[in-house]
Amino acid sequence: MAIERTFSIVKPDATRRNLTGAVCAKLEEAGLRIVAQKRIQMTRENAETFYAVHKERPFFGELVDFMISGPVVVQVLEGENAILKNREVMGATNPADADEGTIRKEFAESIEANSVHGSDSPENAAIEIAYFFSGSEIVG
Ligand code: ADP
Ligand code: MG
Repeated sequence: MAIERTFSIVKPDATRRNLTGAVCAKLEEAGLRIVAQKRIQMTRENAETFYAVHKERPFFGELVDFMISGPVVVQVLEGENAILKNREVMGATNPADADEGTIRKEFAESIEANSVHGSDSPENAAIEIAYFFSGSEIVG
């Protein structure tokens, strides 16, 4: 197994409800280390660029509005198999389908306001990390 880095977002529904620490505790309990973190207000351009892969989907406009509706916490997580491990602790996109104990099962409000983002591949992890962090901001 390899030590990987993945990109994570604590989404506006979670920061609004003061759940940043609760989400981070779940990540750390799963063995992921938060090696970079900052609270930011995404611009519309940030959100449209970040979710460009979904721009043809019917929910794209609402998703962008949601992602800029309040602050988010962007993070780099590090650990063995971090990309898959984070997807496991996040749970399914739709909280109705998420396993017990996952972040989305416990905290998500809906399929859209689902509390967290996590990269889905090594390639996307590298792109997403580089979009939000410079190398000197990541301290492993
Ligand atoms: P994931 O975040 O689990 O990787 P996707 O990449 O498919 O899921 O979707 C990105 C985000 O778009 C989701 O986390 C969620 O916030 C939103 N989303 C996905 N599907 C829907 C949907 N059917 N309706 C509204 N929002 C959605
Ligand atoms: Mg995705």
